[in-house]
Amino acid sequence: MNIDLLTVDAARTAVLEKQTTAADLVDAFYAKIEADDPAIGAYLTLCKDRAYQQAERIDEMADRGDPLPPLAGVPIAVKDVFTTKGVRTTAGSKILENFIAPYDATVVARLEDAGAIVLGKTNCDEFAMGSSNENSGFRPVHNPHDHSRVPGGSSGGSAAAVAAGMAAASLGSDTGGSIRQPAAFCGVVGLMPTYGRVSRYGLIAFASSLDHVGPFGRTVKDVAIMLQQIAGRDPLDSTSAEVPVPNYLEHVGQPVTGLKIGMPKEYFGEGLDPEVWTAVEAALHELAKAGCKIVPISLPHTAYAIPTYYVVATAEASSNLARYDGVRDGLRAEGKTLAEMYRRTRDAGFGAEVKRRIMLGTYVLSAGYYDAYYLKAQRVRCRLAKDFDDAFAAVDVIVTPTTPTPAFKLGEKADDPLAMYLADIFTVTADLVGIPGISIPCGKSKDGLPIGLQILGKHFDEPTVLRVAHATEHALAVTLN
Ligand code: GLN
Repeated sequence: MNIDLLTVDAARTAVLEKQTTAADLVDAFYAKIEADDPAIGAYLTLCKDRAYQQAERIDEMADRGDPLPPLAGVPIAVKDVFTTKGVRTTAGSKILENFIAPYDATVVARLEDAGAIVLGKTNCDEFAMGSSNENSGFRPVHNPHDHSRVPGGSSGGSAAAVAAGMAAASLGSDTGGSIRQPAAFCGVVGLMPTYGRVSRYGLIAFASSLDHVGPFGRTVKDVAIMLQQIAGRDPLDSTSAEVPVPNYLEHVGQPVTGLKIGMPKEYFGEGLDPEVWTAVEAALHELAKAGCKIVPISLPHTAYAIPTYYVVATAEASSNLARYDGVRDGLRAEGKTLAEMYRRTRDAGFGAEVKRRIMLGTYVLSAGYYDAYYLKAQRVRCRLAKDFDDAFAAVDVIVTPTTPTPAFKLGEKADDPLAMYLADIFTVTADLVGIPGISIPCGKSKDGLPIGLQILGKHFDEPTVLRVAHATEHALAVTLN
């Protein structure tokens, strides 16, 4: 079977209708990964035994004529920040280079219960800290559209795997933009659900109040299908919400006539690449043609989002990463005293960006500076939330560019952390506020690089976000092709 550009929808239909077997699909995907991944670097670990066992289970069910689960035989990739029982889980860090997780993350278990086949674990920035994948402790990922460019980060491997046809869909995590930004750079769809919509159990923590789990796919429909399986309360994650899970697919394809689309002026100003502007404007034009009303709005505290994020995220990271001490999981370096063993382990195991964040986070949490930085940042976070509450009183969704520019060159920002942090300028606010956001492809630059459009919605209003995303995808497919 030709697996080029295979969607989740097409893969499951092919297995359901017996046009292929799950084992054949797995063969085809591994052949593609072996041929193409050396130049891209999307995968850190392949889990062939696990994949073929799952394929066998699905194929036996099909042979017996049993009803097949909704993702039967769909080959997926999982960012290496999700634990997988018996399979190496590194979080992109040398400190966990040989860590074999003793249990599965809830999202991995749910996708496998639904019949999906995990092909392997994808490369990412160390502990999901980065915007280019260059902070991986192992190797950078190359953008499939142009190997001299970054795929975005931190879920760059998961985005690149889907973009390069090395998985039908994948899982990522988004703390400040790490699903939407790489989706934009790689020309795929990436969805960050509402905070609490999807369980974080088994997600290696970066910043717990900001970490969101979500899918990448080739189409809006595919991410809706994936979300359907992973959404919902999990007794193992006390921050997962009791909110009922709607039928997302029912909303995909519904008309958007009469919806109000907010266009925040702060996202269309200085620093926005003119080609990105043109592509986003064209998408807004399509939405207007489809009967939406475009409403100019303001999110007045936007300029404070990046500094607020880098205080809150580093504070939480410094606390979460305290557990890597050489005693429990992961690397252990020898030392004459306990303190020396801690120091050497953390020095050898963590990369430069992770160390920078632990130091910054420890500083902002320290007794003398807590009020000035951490508490202040939490206050600004409330202001940002109010900006969105006010905006959503007047509009149904908010549309912005996902990133100010298309994918940049490998090395271009690697030595300038502040320039790198600005790559998330349009994405971090949604994480701070906990609202859902999606990035969909909305065009290409003259160099052939994908451009992403971001759609943000109200808490738990993934249905409207998906509806608008699908309408835009559909309208643009007609005009772009
Ligand atoms: N680029 C941001 C950071 O480095 C966001 C990362 C993420 O969303 N995991 O913190």
